[in-house]
Order: sequence, then structure tokens, then C-alpha cells
Amino acid sequence: MAPQVFVYVAHRGGQAADPALELLSAARVLSPNGPVIAVAAGHGAGLDQVCRDMAGRCLEVWKLSNEALAYPNAEAIRKCVTGVLPSGAVLLLAHDTLGMDLGPGLSIKLDSPFVSDVVAMDPPQDGVLKLVREEYGGQVSTHLSCDISGGAVLSIRSGAFPASEETAVGEVRDKSPDIGDLSCGRRFIKIVGAEAGDVDITKEEILVSVGRGIEDEDNIEIAEDLAKALGGVVSCSRPIVDAKWLEKPRQVGTSGKTVKPKVYLALGISGSFQHLGGLKGNPFIVAVNKNPKAPIFQVADVGVVDDLLEFVPLLTEIIDNH
Ligand SMILES: Cc1cc2nc3c(=O)[nH]c(=O)nc-3n(C[C@H](O)[C@H](O)[C@H](O)COP(=O)(O)OP(=O)(O)OC[C@H]3O[C@@H](n4cnc5c(N)ncnc54)[C@H](O)[C@@H]3O)c2cc1C
Repeated sequence: MAPQVFVYVAHRGGQAADPALELLSAARVLSPNGPVIAVAAGHGAGLDQVCRDMAGRCLEVWKLSNEALAYPNAEAIRKCVTGVLPSGAVLLLAHDTLGMDLGPGLSIKLDSPFVSDVVAMDPPQDGVLKLVREEYGGQVSTHLSCDISGGAVLSIRSGAFPASEETAVGEVRDKSPDIGDLSCGRRFIKIVGAEAGDVDITKEEILVSVGRGIEDEDNIEIAEDLAKALGGVVSCSRPIVDAKWLEKPRQVGTSGKTVKPKVYLALGISGSFQHLGGLKGNPFIVAVNKNPKAPIFQVADVGVVDDLLEFVPLLTEIIDNH
């Protein structure tokens, strides 16, 4: 029997977070023809809007509304979700900050296994699901079998599944009356907005991104020259921000910005999943790296194995002279 599959939909400002549609695709692997139920917790007009939107994507949406859920608080969300999920449910979460906060506790409360950061899975057979996770920055894949016949909690890596294109005329079910006591040890203090920065890399079509392979702060100039020649801007991986060579708003990745350029040049970037997690919209990726085994080449459309300090100035010169 196909498991009863739920996806948890995080949201903000009346909009479902980006991974919601990817979770629906992942849920389809588990339940190819059966219903997939979206669960959204919150309070007020934003929650109503998200539930309406999700009802256009799957046949059933469970709305969990309570004042204690007005701001994201994993402890309160965990309490209300465990209060309404049936036993044996398989729950999919995004593998992001909230998902990682929710997953382990949900798994304990639901008494079901937890597999984090799933990048691939096969349809379950006889209640057993085969999944793939990655270790050591994507250099090693771990293949796991998980008995999901009694339920499971899975956190799904951003970008591992395509966004679902399914549409539906679904129904929103208000499960709020079933929510029990939500008193929590944690309390919401405030939302701290991200620094704005001088450029908004999320809006750019061409990004020339530099990683640790740029070797020195002074060398960033060669990436800036290339970005200028191409009509793009410079972004970077996290070590560049940690070294204070560029500002945080330039960082691409799970703890930086999510970008959707048409063209992405990765210069001296190894291709960790935390970096690639910030790349959306299937851009054309050009990678320059002197290590032919760098994981970035697994996702690049064009790969150049070379020293970027030699290759990039030449490329800029050719473009400038064209
Ligand atoms: C919780 C968490 C969140 C994270 N969030 C992010 C995030 O948002 N964004 C992010 O980027 N990282 C993030 N990271 C860090 C991430 O795991 C990687 O450490 C980081 O992405 C590596 O950056 P890099 O590719 O620039 O450096 P490295 O992994 O050191 O790679 C440098 C690459 O440059 C190549 N190279 C060296 N010299 C040259 C040269 N002269 N010419 C050509 N190639 C050269 C090397 O072969 C290598 O492949 C996060 C980590 C954690 C734990």
C-alpha cells in the first residue's frame, strides 16, 4: 500500500517558500498516483493565501492556524504537526534551517525514522525506500534503505527534485481545532532582514562567481574585469565572505543568496552542495577549476581545467576585443 505522504510548506509574507514545489515532486516518487497532502502552519491572511495557492497544486491542504504560529517557531510547529498527522505518515520537509530544526524532533515525536538531506530516491517497494544522501561536500554518495511502513520524516535537499508542474483543484481543510497546547520554551524575538548590499545578485542574469581558488583579495579584480566585459556582476562562495574579501550580500548558497541567473561562471569554486543549493533556474554553468575532479564539473555545462589566474584575463581580453 502506498504511504500517506505529507509535505510541510514553509512560507513567508503569504508566499510558499521555494522548495514547496520540489517537495511535491519528491512526494510523487513516494506516491506516484495517490494523494499528497500539503500542511501549512501559521496565522492570518498570509497563511490563508498560501493554503489557497497550494490547493492549486495538490488535492488537499491542511491549514494549521494559531496565534502561536504567527512567526516561525520550530517548537510550536513541531507540536501542532505531530498533533494532527496520522500514524504511519511520511512527512517531507525542505533541508533548510527550519527543516533541520523540525526534522529530528518530529521523528522522535512521531516515532519514525529520519533521513536528512535526501538527494534521490526510488519508489518504495514492500514498504522499503531506497534513498541517496551525499557526504564530504558531494564527493561520496551514501545509498540507504529505510523502512517507511510505519512512517518517516525525510528532509529533501534544495534543487534535488524539479519543481512540480502539477496543477489541481484542491481543498483546504482547516485542522486548527485539532491543534493542542502550543506553549513553548522558545519565543519569537524579531526577524532580522538580510543586508541589502550595493548590488542585488538575485536579480542579475550573468554572475561571475569567485571561490577560494581566486587565492588573493587582489585577484578579485580579474573577476570584476570579466563581469564588466560580460555585463554581469561578481558574486562569490562563502570562504570569500569569511575572508572579508567581498560583502555577505554577494554570497551564493544555502547560507547566502539564492540566485537565478541565465549564465553562471564558477571561478575556483569546488561545487559544494551548500554553494550549489543557492543556484536555481537551471543556469548555463561555466566552471574554471584546476582540479579536473572538482565536483563543480558534474553540474557544469562547460568545464575548463586551467589556472583561473591565467585563463580568466585571457578570456576577458578576447571578449573585450570582440
Ligand atoms: C552550514 C553551512 C552553510 C554553508 N553555506 C555556504 C554558502 O551559502 N555558500 C558557499 O559557497 N558555501 C557554504 N558553505 C561552505 C561550503 O561547505 C564550502 O566549504 C564552500 O562552498 C567552499 O567554497 P569554495 O568552493 O570557494 O572553496 P574550496 O572548496 O576550497 O574550493 C576551491 C576550488 O578552487 C580550485 N582552485 C584553487 N586554485 C585555483 C586556481 N588558481 N585556478 C582554478 N581553480 C583553482 C580548487 O581546485 C578547488 O576546487 C557552508 C557550509 C556549512 C557547513
